[in-house]
Amino acid sequence: MAPWSVVEAIRRKRDGEALPTSEIQALVEGYVAGRIPDYQMSAFLMAVYFRGLDPREMTDLTMAMAQSGDMVRFGDDPRIVDKHSTGGVGDKTSLVVVPLVAAAGALVPKMSGRGLGHTGGTLDKLESIPGFRTSLSPEEFRRSVDEVGLAIVGQTGNLVPADKLIYALRDVTATVDSTGLIASSVMSKKIAGGARRLVLDVKAGRGAFMPTAEKALELARAMVSIGKQAGIATVALVTAMDQPLGRAVGNALEVEEAVGCLRGEGPADLRHETVELGAHLVVLAGLAPDIGAARLRLNGLLDTGQALERFRRMVVAQGGDPGVCDRPEEVLPKAPATSEALAPVGGWVKSIDALAVGRLCMRLGAGRQRKEDVIDPAVGVVLAAKIGDPVEKGLPLGVVHARSEAEAREGARGLEAAYEFSEEPVSAAELILGTVE
Ligand code: URA
Repeated sequence: MAPWSVVEAIRRKRDGEALPTSEIQALVEGYVAGRIPDYQMSAFLMAVYFRGLDPREMTDLTMAMAQSGDMVRFGDDPRIVDKHSTGGVGDKTSLVVVPLVAAAGALVPKMSGRGLGHTGGTLDKLESIPGFRTSLSPEEFRRSVDEVGLAIVGQTGNLVPADKLIYALRDVTATVDSTGLIASSVMSKKIAGGARRLVLDVKAGRGAFMPTAEKALELARAMVSIGKQAGIATVALVTAMDQPLGRAVGNALEVEEAVGCLRGEGPADLRHETVELGAHLVVLAGLAPDIGAARLRLNGLLDTGQALERFRRMVVAQGGDPGVCDRPEEVLPKAPATSEALAPVGGWVKSIDALAVGRLCMRLGAGRQRKEDVIDPAVGVVLAAKIGDPVEKGLPLGVVHARSEAEAREGARGLEAAYEFSEEPVSAAELILGTVE
């Protein structure tokens, strides 16, 4: 594309026009090839931020990004499914739902990410299991999916270089929180990763990218529409992320909680969300006639330990210590210091700021500010009280696991500050806020 037409394209987007497919492709290709400089792509992104993209433009941008690097293919077996979360605090659903639906007969070749900022990442959580490898060769990855029904690995090959470049630019130009840009970023990775049947978990609330259910629903609709255009059967659930999901936040602590859930123990919100996501995956895979039947089946697989057995087989296939399934508290790394957060008043828990808890865990060492930061798998928090629970003054709200006594004590004060209380009873928070099919 000649330089003048890049300027023209930016101007037309700035003025609210829709760009033709060929220009969107040329912008992405030119940027990845280094012909279009950062300042022009930045201006384009800001124009998109203010003017938005129509559904056709969103699909064009997604496809152009998806095609900027390798495209993985897994074949057309209808049992192959994928699941993706837009990211939250304490979100360990993949650790439970992937083995759960594999136990129901689905095949899940899952590429996951690392935590960034206040949100956790599935790879970091799994790597807290001694020996567990998230980097498999393409042959090992396929073999594991064939033999065990699942594998969870880091991104392999040169997938969606356009997203890596554009995301880094969005991060420093205040253009991350745009529906069209998030939708195309997520869906381009799913398309290039070979997904054909996909369930999206779109988080809404203080600990999520989208602060309100309305904005999250808009994002969910955009991604489902792109999925439809790209031939991917996509269902999106909008789920609450005002308080952390489950009780544990922090890598090894979340693995321990996930193992408990796979054993059928709960916690209730994690189990509920996992079964809802899993039920949609199982229906998409053609393994249950409807959501009701799928829920029944998945609850049975949790209660009979079959989901945990599938998780065990994945841990073995990926080099990890299977003892994590029986004695997680002995096998997983442990922080040297703990401190309790105590309720400053009696009453009922009104809110727990998921963003504050996520940031607290990041300061403790569980997360990273930059991709190259090293994390501590053992640190984090375990909440004793969630929204709606009664509390007594001076009794524990949760436990902070830290690298030193001083950090644990300071963390406990931070955890106390994340809570708000009510003198009146508070009902438990709604978890599933909407479904887009
Ligand atoms: N996750 C992504 O992969 N991309 C975004 O733009 C936001 C969240």
